[in-house]
Amino acid sequence: MTEEIRSKYQAVIGLEVHAQMLTKSKAYSSDVNEFGDAPNTNVSVITLGHPGTLPKMNKRTIEFAIRMGIACESDITEFQSFDRKNYFYPDLPKGYQITQDRTPICENGRIFIKDDNGNEKAIKITRIHMEEDAGKSIHDVDVHDTLVDLNRAGIPLIEIVSEPDLRSSQEAYNYVTEVRKLVRYLEICDGNMEESSLRCDANISVMLKGAKEYGRRVEVKNMNSIRNVQKAIEYEIERHIELIEKGEIIAQETRSFDALKGTTISMRSKEAANDYRFFPEPDLLPLTVDQKQIDAIKAEMPALPRDLFIKYTKELGLSEYDAYNITDSKEIALFYEDIVSCTSNHKAAANWLMGDIKSYLNHKGKEITDFPISAKTIGELIAIIDEGKISSTVASQKVFPALIEDASKSPISIAESMNLIQDSNEDSIMTYIDEVIAKNPSEVERYKNGEKQLTGFFMGQLMRVSKGKADPKAANQLMRSALDKL
Ligand code: ADP
Ligand code: MG
Repeated sequence: MTEEIRSKYQAVIGLEVHAQMLTKSKAYSSDVNEFGDAPNTNVSVITLGHPGTLPKMNKRTIEFAIRMGIACESDITEFQSFDRKNYFYPDLPKGYQITQDRTPICENGRIFIKDDNGNEKAIKITRIHMEEDAGKSIHDVDVHDTLVDLNRAGIPLIEIVSEPDLRSSQEAYNYVTEVRKLVRYLEICDGNMEESSLRCDANISVMLKGAKEYGRRVEVKNMNSIRNVQKAIEYEIERHIELIEKGEIIAQETRSFDALKGTTISMRSKEAANDYRFFPEPDLLPLTVDQKQIDAIKAEMPALPRDLFIKYTKELGLSEYDAYNITDSKEIALFYEDIVSCTSNHKAAANWLMGDIKSYLNHKGKEITDFPISAKTIGELIAIIDEGKISSTVASQKVFPALIEDASKSPISIAESMNLIQDSNEDSIMTYIDEVIAKNPSEVERYKNGEKQLTGFFMGQLMRVSKGKADPKAANQLMRSALDKL
């Protein structure tokens, strides 16, 4: 497609994200909520919807949903009830899902993302409601039959529905990244898209730029990574534009993403869509949430990535780049918080974390939670560099690896025992300078004749004779004045 045609159109995207809650038990029963257990082991008569059994609401799910609502600055609904969404499917033993059709737990929220120009943009959140997951139909294990695992049936979900505020596949990518970051910070969902604990349906339409009305939308499902959400949307945008350019009409339908081909295929048209026959769930009491409960949950909430980002850029003087990278993961941000509680050199703390520490973790395939050196020790390491006792190069190349080997030692004791303490004593530096000058008469002559760039050469020599221990800052000044006096 030519850039000229493409640029006539504006994409409009709204996302529905399902997040599995990290509760111990299921949404309406005491069955264990655990990924990867042997199939059909966490399945009681309640999950199976046997006649005479009654669901009971899991309190933790409500708390988790409210956490997300608070994080999205939503209104929390005071009086809530539950509804049945009826449909027949082999992995839905009850024949319906218990959901919140009429009274979602949260409404009118917003999530901040970066737009395509790198500016902050608020994406409105229409609603967040609680519901339960269906079981899993497995098509690729047995050649003849579809297998059903009901362990997943009844696992609590929240569904986060955005307004159609997103304008490109990149914005959609950024949005899902933010949602995943939020649920992870809030510790309500592990955010793992490969294991489907976080799933995203994308609604996509295109319209001519400047048009007043949105185009006909298509819903795409089955993307198992954020990158695939972006790819599916990109594919759909182009497909829509091509159809419109040919004068064809977009069919309102649900499509499935094929990750191998990078394309989407039609699953069902909206005309043939299920009529879910929602009706009030008669077996669950309505739920009331009062301000006191909301305040109690708010009081327990961790700092959120956006708050930390603002703190790091506005108060600690970090660049947006550093602040974004540090707040990308809650564990990294918590470690950073620990380091800066031990040092006032916030920039050095960021550099150590995103530099030597991150590369060590990447190299070893470890998480920050497995990092052997304590934040306090990193603070001490930064301090002895700032005091001029060791250079940053020596700290990175010698002391840091030694600390990895034995994290119980202090940086200063390592620097001392490895004989790394920097010499900033003027007299001893002058001795090195005299030696360098005496050993290199021809370079001295050239320097005197105006080749000032030889300072670098002399500094190199000085580092050699001092075995890297001369404090480079002090040595540099002394060297220049010594040479200029000749
Ligand atoms: P449904 O119940 O059919 O899924 P909703 O009204 O709940 O319909 O909308 C679902 C999603 O579709 C929302 O995320 C919304 O932002 C998005 N959406 C609605 N209209 C459009 C449109 N014209 N283009 C893209 N997305 C849209
Ligand atoms: Mg939908």
